Amino acid sequence: MALGIQAGRDMQQVQKFLEQYEQMSRGAKLRFVNGVGLYTLPALERLAGYDHGFSARSGGVSEGYFASLNLSFTRPENRESVMENYRRFCRAAEIPFEQMVMDTYEHGTNVIKVDRADAGKGYLLDPLPSCDGLVTNDPAVTLITGHADCMAFYFVDPVKRCIGLAHAGWRGALGRIGARVVKRMALEYGANPSDIIAGVGPSICPSCFEVGENVAKEFAAAYPDLHCVLEHEGARPHVDLWMVAVKQFIEAGVLPEHISLFDVCTMTAPRLYSHRRDKGNTGGMAAYLRILP
Ligand SMILES: [Zn+2]
Repeated sequence: MALGIQAGRDMQQVQKFLEQYEQMSRGAKLRFVNGVGLYTLPALERLAGYDHGFSARSGGVSEGYFASLNLSFTRPENRESVMENYRRFCRAAEIPFEQMVMDTYEHGTNVIKVDRADAGKGYLLDPLPSCDGLVTNDPAVTLITGHADCMAFYFVDPVKRCIGLAHAGWRGALGRIGARVVKRMALEYGANPSDIIAGVGPSICPSCFEVGENVAKEFAAAYPDLHCVLEHEGARPHVDLWMVAVKQFIEAGVLPEHISLFDVCTMTAPRLYSHRRDKGNTGGMAAYLRILP
């Protein structure tokens, strides 16, 4: 009997989460500045004193399958072209060029606290130690993460005035890097998770993210009460990474009404690079987040 009541409660929790996820605010804005496309999230735009966005692939100097605003240093392209793309991206997004700090794109879950002493790391100076997540409360740095299907997680605490940004592919999502960023903001800056406004960037959508049986099993095991593995008759399983993101934000204490999704799929949007669609022959995009001085 007691077990029956517990099972009923669990079902209610699952149902409640699914409703919250379905009702979540979705949709990005896209603007072009000197040809450079920039996606933004309305919920983060409404916050005064912060700036954020996500680059599209137009307005740069790269050619061929990197065309044209490739912002990835890890792909086999002429470094000077990528640097010039960053200059154009910075002018369009009004980011001081010397003040960026970049993640190292490891598909891990390490989160690093940065400040103005780290400005330039990853492009002008040596890279940071291995990390996919960054936190700061310093307005003299702009956090940058690289993407080409993987999610960008944005976090802003307007009360304690601190921010976090992460690169989360399926491995990072599985390892709950989003929850780790929230915990780090709480630890370093006293952020209260219920004050944090969070967003999930352009990335491969639930309809496109096909996985093998082993990856599907890992997600089912890591999120046993979440219906994030979607089984389609006669097809390989799919994983809803956006749902996994939202779930870990809520587990970390972020309020559902403070979470929103860009709702832009990199695999089907021709303006974006997609590692999977282009079978690895592609460039990279940048997510950025900063506190305005
Ligand atoms: Zn898609």
